[in-house]
Amino acid sequence: MPTDCLFCKIAAGEIPAKILHRDERVIAIEDINPQAPTHALVLPVEHHANAGELSDANDPALIARLIEVATALGRAGGEGDRLVMNTGAQGGQTVDHVHVHVLAGRPMHWPPG
Ligand code: AMP
Ligand code: ZN
Repeated sequence: MPTDCLFCKIAAGEIPAKILHRDERVIAIEDINPQAPTHALVLPVEHHANAGELSDANDPALIARLIEVATALGRAGGEGDRLVMNTGAQGGQTVDHVHVHVLAGRPMHWPPG
C-alpha cells in the first residue's frame, strides 16, 4: 500500500470517515463533499489505483462485491441513481485508490461536465 494513500488510511481506520458499509473486502463511506443527497464512495480495502489496475488484478469477486455494495446503496438512496468511476486526471480522478461514486436522491443530467 502506498503510505500516502488517503483511502488506504481510511480503510485502516487511521483517518476518520462516516462508514456506511464494511466487510472483509470493501468499505463504503460518505463523500466529504457530497454532490447529491446520497453521495457514497465504495472502495476495496486493498489498494488498486484505478479501475484499469483493478481489472488487471484478475479478481472478479472483488469487482462484483464493489458493484453489489454500490447498487445496494444506490437503491437505498431513492428512485434511480448514478454510479461513476473517474480514471486519471483527465477523467476527473483526484484520489488514486479506485472507488465507485454512488449518487442518488436528485435528478441526474447528461452529459456530465
Ligand atoms: P475522484 O475525484 O473521483 O477521485 O473522487 C474522490 C472523492 O473523494 C471526491 O468526491 C472527494 O470529495 C472525496 N473525498 C476526498 N477526501 C475525502 C475524505 N477525507 N473523506 C471522504 N471523501 C473524501
Ligand atoms: Zn490506497
